[in-house]
Amino acid sequence: MLSPAAKPPPFSPTMSPRWNSSSSTPSPSSSPEMSKAQKMQDEDVQAISNDEQDCSIIWFDPKAIDLLDCPICLEPLKPPISHCHNGHILCSSCCTHLKNICPICTTSIGSTRIRTLENLLESTKCFCPNKKFGCEETISYYDRNVHARTSCTYVPCTCPCCDHFVDSYKKLYVHLSDEHKGRAICFSYNEFLLVTLNNKVKNEIFVLQRGRGDVVFVLNNVVVDQHVGNGWNAVFVVCIGSRSLSDERLFKYTIAIVGDVEERFMIFQDRVKIERKNVDINNFGNITASTEYFLVPCSFFDSSGKLNISVKITEELEEDGVVTSY
Ligand SMILES: [Zn+2]
Ligand SMILES: [Zn+2]
Ligand SMILES: [Zn+2]
Ligand SMILES: [Zn+2]
Repeated sequence: MLSPAAKPPPFSPTMSPRWNSSSSTPSPSSSPEMSKAQKMQDEDVQAISNDEQDCSIIWFDPKAIDLLDCPICLEPLKPPISHCHNGHILCSSCCTHLKNICPICTTSIGSTRIRTLENLLESTKCFCPNKKFGCEETISYYDRNVHARTSCTYVPCTCPCCDHFVDSYKKLYVHLSDEHKGRAICFSYNEFLLVTLNNKVKNEIFVLQRGRGDVVFVLNNVVVDQHVGNGWNAVFVVCIGSRSLSDERLFKYTIAIVGDVEERFMIFQDRVKIERKNVDINNFGNITASTEYFLVPCSFFDSSGKLNISVKITEELEEDGVVTSY
């Protein structure tokens, strides 16, 4: 359903009625002999003609905007719009789905289009649902949800370290710096970073960030099935960012363990897309085999529970199924 951000602004007493607009051009209508009502009416017309380029409309009933939605699927109406014999309208996909029979009165829906309504829909603009997170786009009302799903770069994400940050990923860097000092580790793409895991901590995360306004990576170290001297740690990376569908970036990460004993050489690679939040590592469950996680035997950790690993992240772009590293 629509969020309140989609609604037109409520009427405010500070808004000037049109007839309060003043014109610098003297006109006969400003004669003191004229009745106040006549003067207001004339100035109103003058104000409309002066302001017609930036005229905005206020709907006093917030529910009125629902009239721009299909009454069946509740998605915004988008041209072409046809109607039944009794004037009911529904969106073109519902028309197709219902074989052009009106679900309200069961008469058939013809092919005659309502051009005036289509023009109105095409000229109705609104703010992006993510305006409160920083998006300043104004879009057609009927493209609002599509924009938010596919191209908006201000889709909110959550902080991997706390549960009170829900905002654009562009602000996550500052949030991590301000609220979680010392939690974030700076890294560069294509360079190995040494990280010491600790399996005495049940669910351990490392936040890796490259710079202000960039996506953030979370290296998770989760104890998944620990018996005495016989268990696994799942080690994996999640990328947190805007997750708009138009962002086709992929990130390949490599985790390598090079122990002092030769058999302890292990390497794991996977590709991740941008997500809006980290996985819920507190409800991870037991896993025994997976290609999505690097399963590290507990025996690899030393007697104090420590294990050094090297992590490298590479940025890639997927176009038509072809992955390019850069
Ligand atoms: Zn519909
Ligand atoms: Zn009907
Ligand atoms: Zn947006
Ligand atoms: Zn936080």
